[in-house]
Amino acid sequence: MSIFSEMGTYEHEQVVFCSEKKSGLKAIIAIHNTTLGPALGGLRIWDYAKEEEALNDVLRLSRGMSYKAAAAGLNLGGGKAVIIGDAKKIKSEALFRAFGRFVEGLSGRYITAEDVNTSVRDIEHILKETKFVTGIPASYGGSGDPSPFTAQGVFWAMKACCFEVYGKNSVENKKVLITGLGHVGTYLIDLCASEGAKLFISDIDDKKVKAIIEKYPSAKFINPEEVASQDVDIYAPCALGNILNDTTIPKLKAKIICGAANNQLGDENIHGPQLRELGILYAPDYVANSGGLINVSNELKKGGYDLETSTKQVANIYDVMIEIIKTSKEEKIPTHKAANRIAENRIATITKLNTIITSGKRFFDR
Ligand code: NAD
Repeated sequence: MSIFSEMGTYEHEQVVFCSEKKSGLKAIIAIHNTTLGPALGGLRIWDYAKEEEALNDVLRLSRGMSYKAAAAGLNLGGGKAVIIGDAKKIKSEALFRAFGRFVEGLSGRYITAEDVNTSVRDIEHILKETKFVTGIPASYGGSGDPSPFTAQGVFWAMKACCFEVYGKNSVENKKVLITGLGHVGTYLIDLCASEGAKLFISDIDDKKVKAIIEKYPSAKFINPEEVASQDVDIYAPCALGNILNDTTIPKLKAKIICGAANNQLGDENIHGPQLRELGILYAPDYVANSGGLINVSNELKKGGYDLETSTKQVANIYDVMIEIIKTSKEEKIPTHKAANRIAENRIATITKLNTIITSGKRFFDR
């Protein structure tokens, strides 16, 4: 595999390979694009079968972060990091501190956060070595768990979709199916219930289902195998990705799909256009679930994290979604393409500005 040719495919700026024998650290940090600001993206720990897989993953994920930040209107670029190994075996203070020193060495070009298999506790170790870290605990002046903000963002995107489909930006009396009753799903249920939605819920974990039914006795449980064919108005996938595919799309009855799960479209080029042809409004996943990123980005502001500002910024997802719907209709393209176009245009425009202004201090003070 040629690393430079892989980097060239989507114009990644920088890839850093980090190794430390003492702690057993083997990590890759990928910086996709810093036009809009420092590259922010979480640290994932995964037991990749091959180093090549780790590189592919970090390149793909970091590029996704550039789009997510750009579409959300943030002054942030896209980056991501992976540590190679079995999280159950390799996690230690020494490992995270070694990783933190590499992040510090990038002087703010990359800012890390939690992702799959990393927790707030791990972030505390990273924080001992670098200030370029977000998602830090509230006790350290951070914003804590991002999930409530992710859920709020999904809810705003859902309201925008309701405005388009039903002429009213409310889920009142709408049949909303939420799959995945985890961190985000449970908050989303509360938001939908507070506006008078009829709840349909699904999870593979019986305990989680029971807890929701206790709280909302009228919620109807749906078997995970039968979610796609449910006669509901809104389907909110908040568990796994790849759930909009050749098998599920023909069964869909929902008019709106809007949830937190990443990579919902099995194949963007096939399933995005298919949803559009069927008249199903799909809220692009990285837009609907950008509330968590918007929230942690506020930790970087001068003066520190502020809940009110964060809440207001997350509400902007409503306007972003309205713009995506407008672009999708005007240009007759699927919504995920419209979102990509908005993100790409923003990066392209600011690039031009930067070539004129250039060399100034580009982040933390904007
Ligand atoms: P979580 O692990 O807390 O919850 C996931 C839930 O999905 C669990 O309850 C699990 O039992 C359930 N589940 C797994 N397989 C299922 C299946 N086949 N059918 C039904 N339920 C199933 O995760 P989370 O933090 O709530 O995140 C949910 C999704 O949103 C993930 O895809 C995540 O990547 C994405 N996301 C989360 C955040 C965040 O702030 N937490 C931000 C952006 C994106």
